[in-house]
Amino acid sequence: MKKLSEPDNSKASFLLTDIIKRKRNKDYAKRLTNYKNYIIKRYCIYEQKKHKLENIGASKIMDEEDKDAINSSFNKSFKEKMKTNELKKVYQECEGVCPYCGNEKIEEIDHYIPEKDYPEFILYPNNLIPSCNKCNKKKSNTFIDSKHERQFINFYYDNIDNIGFLSVKIDFDPADIKKTTKVTYITDYSKIPDRYLRQIVEKHFIHLNLIHRYEDAASNEISELFEMLQNQDNKNADHIKIIGDGVIRGHKNTRLKKMGQDDWKYLLYEELIKIGYIDELIKYVCNQESAKMVT
Ligand SMILES: [Zn+2]
Repeated sequence: MKKLSEPDNSKASFLLTDIIKRKRNKDYAKRLTNYKNYIIKRYCIYEQKKHKLENIGASKIMDEEDKDAINSSFNKSFKEKMKTNELKKVYQECEGVCPYCGNEKIEEIDHYIPEKDYPEFILYPNNLIPSCNKCNKKKSNTFIDSKHERQFINFYYDNIDNIGFLSVKIDFDPADIKKTTKVTYITDYSKIPDRYLRQIVEKHFIHLNLIHRYEDAASNEISELFEMLQNQDNKNADHIKIIGDGVIRGHKNTRLKKMGQDDWKYLLYEELIKIGYIDELIKYVCNQESAKMVT
């Protein structure tokens, strides 16, 4: 998990004016024009409240047709424009990985404050966070809960860099490492010094089902590692060790740099190195080979 650079929102009002000017549907253009000043005012409030977005206050846009008129502008060409301009740096920093889960590929743009209840922020760059389909769906139209508390980390404003609240445990029986390896992720929210942030991170993990998703992804990662080592043409133990060590060290360093300390994949590879997992895998692969030769 890593904090991202804030998008460039300096041209947000200009962007809105331009969209209204180009609107072909006259009814939509009229509705948007009626709300233009209100939307720009709301952008200013967003900027003022960005560190406590739960205090943004309810939207005044209640009419469904007004909502449709505003929401119609969040189309393919707008999203493309965001990718290459306002969110360019954000996309570069994410390197294709969804910031909400740090696991799946980016496929869409999430509205941190949902567009259903707050249509005025549907085109506001700082409200747009690239995300995977799964996280976007799980987030749905939720943003604050019944206690008026935020439920998801905001990767532009919440400082979640290198806290160390996530850890991993790997258990296995060396006799049958392939079938018995079990990866367990553990969260220790008490390591997050700020109480406000602690609650948000905890809710974020629960609502996005992250622990379960990390455990599944880690099992797949280990299976792939196993297949890769087993499929080496050269079955010499030293050769397999060089390949295996190279791969896991490479992954560990890349992920730490890219995603920070509380990243499921970085932690997985760090732990694999620490417990000497590759050596156990090699023993297993070589034993299988010698068993094949005997038969
Ligand atoms: Zn995701």
